[in-house]
Amino acid sequence: METLTTHTRNVLIGVDIQNDFITGTLAVKDGAEVIEPTNKVAEAVRSTDGTVAFTRDWHPAETPHFDTWPSHCVAGTEGAEFVSTLDIQETDSIISKGTGLTDGYSGWEGISDKGETLETLIAPRNTQETVRVFLGGLATDYCVKATGIDIATYFAGNERVTTYLLRDAVRAVALNQADEANALKALEAAQVLAISSEEAIAMIQGE
Ligand SMILES: [Zn+2]
Repeated sequence: METLTTHTRNVLIGVDIQNDFITGTLAVKDGAEVIEPTNKVAEAVRSTDGTVAFTRDWHPAETPHFDTWPSHCVAGTEGAEFVSTLDIQETDSIISKGTGLTDGYSGWEGISDKGETLETLIAPRNTQETVRVFLGGLATDYCVKATGIDIATYFAGNERVTTYLLRDAVRAVALNQADEANALKALEAAQVLAISSEEAIAMIQGE
């Protein structure tokens, strides 16, 4: 007889921690502060054989997206590279988005070179598995918001997937003063739960 043991898999999604968003053409204020907490949670997730994925803006040189924003994260350029202090391991997945003529705010539309998507990386692998998704990166009011809402909305009917926002591992562009608060409200409304990276690590190690 099969034993019904439940297993929790931890997933870290690091959103767009790329040079252009930290020091480049579209630098987010205090964006570099997301790096350390993201690295720490990624390490904790890997130590439980979890899943670590990093999304990246990977735009063509010309796209309608650059009517809205200054040119940034053009595929293959230094600005599009992940920040050198971001700890990326060979087993991690890299999800590229905005590769066509779309804005590519959401990592949900992205795909890795191996054909992985956030959907395939997050979805429980069997009926005994529950999944905790931890979300950090840039920027709170654009790509983090879009990615978090898409994940939480897709898995809304699935009690085995819970999505958390790492509150200290995200920073906002905040073109308008209320943008950050509105993004946090929208994520909360989508059932993305805000916690600190310390709380996340305690949760991961408590398994
Ligand atoms: Zn972009």
